[in-house]
Amino acid sequence: MLKKFFVAAMILFLMTGVVHAETKSSRWQPVIRVGLLSGVKQISLQVSAPCIIINAAKGNILKKIPAGKSFIVALKYMDVNAIEILPEKIPLKDLKVTVGEKRYYGGLSVVKDKGALNVVNLAPLEEYLRGVLAKEMSPSYPLEALKAQAVAARSFALKNRGRHEQDGYDICNSTHCQVYDGVTNYESIDRAIDETRGQVLVYKEKLIDTNFHADSGGMTENSQDVWGGTTPYLVAVREIVQLGTPWVVKVTAKDFSSRFGENFGEVKSIGLSKMTVGQAADDRTSSGRVKSAQIVGSQKTVTMSGKDLRRKFSLPSTLFDMKLEGDAIIFTGYGSGHGVGMSQVGARDYAGSGWSYEKILAHYYTDTRLKKLY
Ligand SMILES: [Zn+2]
Repeated sequence: MLKKFFVAAMILFLMTGVVHAETKSSRWQPVIRVGLLSGVKQISLQVSAPCIIINAAKGNILKKIPAGKSFIVALKYMDVNAIEILPEKIPLKDLKVTVGEKRYYGGLSVVKDKGALNVVNLAPLEEYLRGVLAKEMSPSYPLEALKAQAVAARSFALKNRGRHEQDGYDICNSTHCQVYDGVTNYESIDRAIDETRGQVLVYKEKLIDTNFHADSGGMTENSQDVWGGTTPYLVAVREIVQLGTPWVVKVTAKDFSSRFGENFGEVKSIGLSKMTVGQAADDRTSSGRVKSAQIVGSQKTVTMSGKDLRRKFSLPSTLFDMKLEGDAIIFTGYGSGHGVGMSQVGARDYAGSGWSYEKILAHYYTDTRLKKLY
């Protein structure tokens, strides 16, 4: 008994030693599980360096696979519940796996789920960000804007880690979480990630939800006006550039009326106050976005929220004016996206005017501070 305890204690000691050494290393980083595919029966894979396939539950090696050779993982040949594909000798961050046609950073886990397979990327966080940034912001944006985006994307990933726990991974690779498309190669993006390594945004020492959008159009939006609830760090702030080039969406009065049901009749008039950025009204939020508009038809009057109008007529944002002109409804608006948190176009313009990424982030995320986690 004593001997057993001693052996266990030794193993624990050795393991603690390893973990300790790793956390101390300046190159340590978290690994995030990103869902890539679900409901597949088999997948074709390739690895960039020699790998081992392990039984995820027990850690024992099932097979070794050479670099550069395609192989298939099929549900019908998998006799364990989950496998992991990990590099045999090199660090995880240096491995690349090809799944079908796409290459990803790090290793892979393949899990049986509801009679099919889920494919999950075991991605070192800093490498994962390279695949996210390339999708979320143009690599040609100024470096300080890219750095702000890197911190936002890193914070989001860590804050939402485990959001898809029920599916067997941390976050998905679509707009539901963050778009991640695997291996990319942009010097500007790599530099932005490197220069902010391990940095996240916190509010009262807690990781924040770093919501962001394409372009606020002049002023960002309070989160409660979009999603309800109050998030103290997601409050409306003004932009360096207000009201750039407007977007215009034209809908014929006939098409417009037909979207309000059969007994609406013909559109007669529209009740909506004129937009002024940063000015609230009964029908507008404090940033000037449409809360609701009154659509008067020949048979009935409908009150519709700005969000519903945006959805119904595929408008870029809810910061708009709307009028009936001849036989058409004309929407004229600014910006693109929900308007909460950082505006990417705003970050670009602030960076262009000489702001640092710290200053940009502090502007869009009220009362938050940067924290270096690793
Ligand atoms: Zn998701």
